[in-house]
Amino acid sequence: MGALDTLLSPSGQIDAMPPAQAEAVATELGSAAGLAIASASIVARDGVIGCWAHRGPDTFLTLVSLGHLPLQFSGSPWTTRVGTQVVTLLLCPPTHANAVALRAWLPFTAPQAVGLRKSIGCGDRLGLATPGHVRAVRQGQLFPIFAQQSIREMTRTGRTPMEVMDDATWGVFRAGWRGGFGADADHLKTTDDIDRCLEAGFVLYTIDPGDHVQDDADTAPPDALRARFEQLPWADLETTSQDVQRRYLDRPLEVGDIRLTLDEASLWRAAVKYGRAVAHTVRMVRHLAACWPADAPPWELEVSVDETASPTTPAEHYFVANELRRLGIRPVSLAPRFVGRFEKGVDYLGDLAEFEAQFRQHVAVAQALGPYKISLHSGSDKFSIYPIAARLAGELVHVKTAGTSYLEALRAVAQVEPPLFREILGFALARYPIDRQSYHVSAEPARVPDPDGLTDGDLGTVLDSFDGRQVLHVTFGSVLTARDEHGGYRFRDRLLAALREHEEAHYAALERHFLRHIAPFG
Ligand SMILES: [Zn+2]
Repeated sequence: MGALDTLLSPSGQIDAMPPAQAEAVATELGSAAGLAIASASIVARDGVIGCWAHRGPDTFLTLVSLGHLPLQFSGSPWTTRVGTQVVTLLLCPPTHANAVALRAWLPFTAPQAVGLRKSIGCGDRLGLATPGHVRAVRQGQLFPIFAQQSIREMTRTGRTPMEVMDDATWGVFRAGWRGGFGADADHLKTTDDIDRCLEAGFVLYTIDPGDHVQDDADTAPPDALRARFEQLPWADLETTSQDVQRRYLDRPLEVGDIRLTLDEASLWRAAVKYGRAVAHTVRMVRHLAACWPADAPPWELEVSVDETASPTTPAEHYFVANELRRLGIRPVSLAPRFVGRFEKGVDYLGDLAEFEAQFRQHVAVAQALGPYKISLHSGSDKFSIYPIAARLAGELVHVKTAGTSYLEALRAVAQVEPPLFREILGFALARYPIDRQSYHVSAEPARVPDPDGLTDGDLGTVLDSFDGRQVLHVTFGSVLTARDEHGGYRFRDRLLAALREHEEAHYAALERHFLRHIAPFG
């Protein structure tokens, strides 16, 4: 019996075949049906083969069987002969309805809880990066989160939470990744944000109470702090100012073999700085819990205060985590704002010894009050700190990347369509003064390599320069939503078409870049 017959037999439950066999099936089926089939995607369930295929620019989830096909999918059916058999095919376009059906049919294409496994967030602004991420993730030990966008990113790219989720599902299916993946609704600031992501099936919810963090507490004098401390929303925090002082001032704060101290003034400071953020987080989490469907598997939580002006001291981290714990909140990860600068798309800027000393204490707090993972936001390209994080955090680490995949997509474009890259770079340089305002970046456009002075072959070096990376990193929304004089997209469609046509260049760039993020973690 040939491999195809095995797949079509009613008892066939096949997730992965030896590559040579999968290749043979892809070729046999593909030539009979006039399709190019991604061999890694081939699976079988109860006599039905599922695979990812394309014909020209059109892509399909393709179902094949000797008899009837699962009813929940919609597509165009037809019949063809493969060898001695007559098979029925259903070519299903990658619509939302078909993505929902696929997640139900093949659970490995649906997101799952990540828990305390060490992990990496692979933000994908274009919706085409997952197969490239898969290539890198296969070679390491970090559990992947393939569906991950913040509300800000979705607004700037004109995508919905549903599209982000569906793109990850298709990418996972197409690449044949069976190892499971997470879905992170990132930087949620309001209950509306939660509702939108909940509808799309996200599992991990990153609550960002940063708007409620009072950065000026760092420099306020003790008298002013005391007055503000007394005015905190104690009812919302379900405690009193006296109780809080009793909790933190009458005893040493032991975390592992580290002893943290909060004197009166630093407790007031921590509470003024983060008290309202704790209260907001509680409101958000209770809303999520109240809206969560009873029949869905449990959600999980990250809390992030990374996008604030002043660093989170380990003692402040202790205060936040301990208060959340008292209020019944158990995150799987927490993102403090670290010392030094975590700028977008470039390596860590700061004193590595100081970072290490503080990171060690943050890990101790996370172990003592969770355990939960320390989440490194703006975590891409921080090559100098990965060895420190890997050594000190062990399993308790999450590396969150968001925009670096877009930069690798541009690297592929520079390679395969240099004129388009030159146009995008010129536009990005003009937009940068405006777009930089909402990011932590310090690039100067004047230091970006002049594209007119570069040969096509050297264009990729723009993406190796600090300034070039940041200019391109923060202008993604403007590039992706810019319109031409006819009302169409100025770059978006051409960019996506170039990546679809040259997917090997795109995936190879992503694989190379992500391996550098993953390898230090074992
Ligand atoms: Zn962040």
